[in-house]
Amino acid sequence: MTATDAQVDAPEAPTRPARPSTLRPGRLETDRLARRVAVAEGRELQQVISPLTGEVIGEVPIGTAEDVAAAMAECRRVQKRWAATPVKDRAAVLLRYHDLVLDHQDELLDLIQLENGKARVWAFEEILDQAVTARYYARLAPGALKPHRRLTALPGLVSATEHHVPKGVVGVISPWNYPLVLAVSDALAALVAGNGIVIKPDSQTPFTAIRAFELLEQAGLPEGLVQIVTGPGRSVGQAIIASADYLMFTGSTATGRTIGGQVGERLVGYSAELGGKNAMVVTADADLERAVEGATVACFANTGQLCISIERIYVPRGIASRFTKAFAARVEALRLGAEQEYGPEVGALASPDQLAKVREHIDDAIAKGATVAAGGRLRPEIGPLFHEPTVLADVTADMAVYREETFGPLVSIYAYDTVDEAVDAVNDTEYGLNASVYCSDVKHGRAIAARLMAGTVNVNDGYSSGWGSLDAPMGGMKASGVGRRHGRDGLLKYTESQTIAVRSALAAKLQDPGDDAPAYARRFTKLLKAAKHLPR
Ligand code: NAD
Repeated sequence: MTATDAQVDAPEAPTRPARPSTLRPGRLETDRLARRVAVAEGRELQQVISPLTGEVIGEVPIGTAEDVAAAMAECRRVQKRWAATPVKDRAAVLLRYHDLVLDHQDELLDLIQLENGKARVWAFEEILDQAVTARYYARLAPGALKPHRRLTALPGLVSATEHHVPKGVVGVISPWNYPLVLAVSDALAALVAGNGIVIKPDSQTPFTAIRAFELLEQAGLPEGLVQIVTGPGRSVGQAIIASADYLMFTGSTATGRTIGGQVGERLVGYSAELGGKNAMVVTADADLERAVEGATVACFANTGQLCISIERIYVPRGIASRFTKAFAARVEALRLGAEQEYGPEVGALASPDQLAKVREHIDDAIAKGATVAAGGRLRPEIGPLFHEPTVLADVTADMAVYREETFGPLVSIYAYDTVDEAVDAVNDTEYGLNASVYCSDVKHGRAIAARLMAGTVNVNDGYSSGWGSLDAPMGGMKASGVGRRHGRDGLLKYTESQTIAVRSALAAKLQDPGDDAPAYARRFTKLLKAAKHLPR
């Protein structure tokens, strides 16, 4: 069950607001946005509570399976027309959206901060991602989706073209940690490929997604092509899984496994970006200052609630205490804050459940002998869900934090003696999402990277280079995912490939065994032997 689902069942009483409200935007805007969802009137409402202060910032209706059925029907109707729209016109919508996102960034940043609690500087990452993703898919789609000639067994006599047909309606189920990126970026690829979308954003962060899809309509997307149904995973999410033609899921590995079984039963395609226990290897020759700076961002951007953030750092034993001291000092200097302005570097945890998980991991580790090198305390005077970024040392395998994803501002430092030992330790996890290597010798860094079982490995960076390499596939090995986002894979997964082959009269004659099958076999044997000497 998610934090959000739990809130639907038994609404948590928000802790007392820590300071007078300065939240933007006001209830009028969230009320307006809530009216845009595809949920019938009169449904029960769910409060959305800001992690920044614990205040109620709006309400969204709790959708049902019937709402999903109606949304699917409407989406299918509109999608038929959209699929017939030339790809270049679909791509033009994405380019206009690119401009609208940049122009409306302040408003989007306010919404993201308001419902997720992150510091503004990390909310801006989401704006960046929207712009580059929209531009990338707008430029890629016309070429990638146009019919391509393919080689046949009888070149010149049989011709074949590969076509890409939209799947139809793509279901998107997204989490709360990147309310803009994870609700919209994958949808952009699906939309430009000619699909409609029925999306269930996480109930804690619905408003950013609603506003972003509104901007997409302003950019020219047909009304009704994207249907947003708010509500819990177990009803709305399940109804989407039961009826979509393809499913894009981002969330925890546990939920991803359940959903994988369900879509498998229906034999529909599925792409899942799941959890991680991502590691960084610092080599003996690394520039320590650069590694410390990189680790600080890699571990604590987005308050550590980033699927690709680093939760384990492996450092050569000889420099471990120097690295830990410098890293701890840098982390202690990070500025926490609830302002909806640039300035603070660390925001709030997104929900009471997230905060509880962080505390659970820290308390368990300390009880079993770990030491706190930096942070370690709650900061209720800033807001109800603030916790210091925390660095642990002396972590052992019996502690929960050793293997389990925390998904919060918590990292453990481990000393290693040989690189082989570090590589084995990094790979000793069920996950395989992201990894990082800090080194001076980049050739050596690349060689280490190639041995790490992770879908992306960043050399001299924590995560942004891999994520930002939009033309390259991004996703998880092992229990961290199925399929990929970004690159051609991230577009073509939303299509069915269809081969249309045309046979000439001569090919028909050649392929007809007639009354003389032995002559037919001899003819083809000769042809095959000759064909082996052709270049392709
Ligand atoms: P979660 O799996 O609990 O929920 C994600 C979404 O799925 C929510 O919208 C939720 O309502 C819905 N959901 C939950 N149970 C469902 C069900 N049975 N049927 C249908 N829908 C259901 O994940 P979370 O705790 O909200 O998000 C944090 C997790 O997401 C972390 O593990 C994190 O690593 C992962 N994540 C992965 C990526 C990635 O790209 N790999 C990105 C962000 C987050």
